[in-house]
Amino acid sequence: MKRQIFTEDHDAFRETVRTFLAKEVTPYYAQWEKDGIVSRDAWRAAGRQGLLGLAVPEEYGGGGTGDFRYSAVLAEEFTRAGAPGLAIGLHNDIVGPYLTSLATEEQKRRWLPGFCSGETITAIAMTEPGAGSDLQGIRTAAEDRGDHWVLNGSKTFISNGILADLVIVVARTTPEGGAHGLSLLVVERGMPGFERGRNLDKIGQKSQDTAELFFRDVRVPKENLLGELNGAFVHLMTNLAQERMAIAIAGIAGAEHVLELTTRYVKEREAFGRPLAKLQHIRFEIAEMATECAVTRTFLDRCIADHSAGTLDAVHASMAKWWATELHKRVADRCLQLHGGYGYMTEYPVARAFTDGRIQTIYGGTTEIMKEIIGRSLLG
Ligand SMILES: Cc1cc2nc3c(=O)[nH]c(=O)nc-3n(C[C@H](O)[C@H](O)[C@H](O)COP(=O)(O)OP(=O)(O)OC[C@H]3O[C@@H](n4cnc5c(N)ncnc54)[C@H](O)[C@@H]3O)c2cc1C
Repeated sequence: MKRQIFTEDHDAFRETVRTFLAKEVTPYYAQWEKDGIVSRDAWRAAGRQGLLGLAVPEEYGGGGTGDFRYSAVLAEEFTRAGAPGLAIGLHNDIVGPYLTSLATEEQKRRWLPGFCSGETITAIAMTEPGAGSDLQGIRTAAEDRGDHWVLNGSKTFISNGILADLVIVVARTTPEGGAHGLSLLVVERGMPGFERGRNLDKIGQKSQDTAELFFRDVRVPKENLLGELNGAFVHLMTNLAQERMAIAIAGIAGAEHVLELTTRYVKEREAFGRPLAKLQHIRFEIAEMATECAVTRTFLDRCIADHSAGTLDAVHASMAKWWATELHKRVADRCLQLHGGYGYMTEYPVARAFTDGRIQTIYGGTTEIMKEIIGRSLLG
């Protein structure tokens, strides 16, 4: 089915992304998976190619497009290439909007050029050992000392945690403020007391550096407050819809990709004297998954178009996130089954799709939290 939401410009951009992936990512990816981290060179190459800061205004070195469809193309192609480790989507679509929408002019001049060139890799640190779905439990706290804050606490599961040069940290700035006592503080590489913990050993996305962060009496200048004092909760709520869309796009693209691989595989693999693709059960499996992907694709493309037009609401972003990522999980599992024992071998892309994709129903808000948001909108 021809997708209606893209123009020739998006198609040309897709070719650019594919060329970038073939040249700068795929040849190195196996090594990055072994290393547990991607190379900084790849980030700089992405910057040179104009893939970083697509939505950042041109005057700060960005692409200057408010058109989210370019981000969708980027996410789709990275997913198809099986390269979630180079977390450009997180940098562009999840961290980027905080900087472009909340930073002061002075902060934009300080941070955005490096953001776009790949010199400054970014992360966002919300989750703590004791606070994931429920961010009201955040204990990392910043004490006001006049011209600076003193930050203490720890974060965990932070994507780009080892590489990040700039981390947006959600910290408590008013002890008794509950959800409205949290602020966004920008912590930069080299600030005394800012330390990285372990690069966490995960079951998938092996080349993505997901890490613990520690803050021990970190002196954060007042100029590094991002947005409103005690306004983090509102800022997070505003930006989480885009985060959820970015993950939903990876979900449907991942499901389509693993199905494509599997369709090829069952045509080639023979059992009982003929290709698997000739067995009715296999045909029905493929037919069912193709139908589910097509139906989901229609909804997702509608959400991408709405988000590009600025009309997507948080509830539909939550629907897209849980549905597309749960679909991906189901499809990856069924496709692995159709590969038999080979599906369990890491050298087969289906195995990587299975483990790399598994996290998507969890990060960016779990499926259960998405349903809570939707339920609340319907039932109060
Ligand atoms: C690879 C990876 C990368 C990540 N990257 C980042 C990052 O860059 N920045 C960041 O801040 N965080 C990041 N996270 C953290 C991620 O967002 C959290 O793991 C996620 O939000 C869930 O929080 P939790 O792990 O504390 O689970 P919990 O909140 O403890 O949830 C445990 C279970 O209880 C369920 N549950 C919780 N509350 C409810 C409820 N009200 N109703 C029904 N069920 C509920 C959950 O759905 C889940 O199934 C990352 C995590 C991973 C694994």
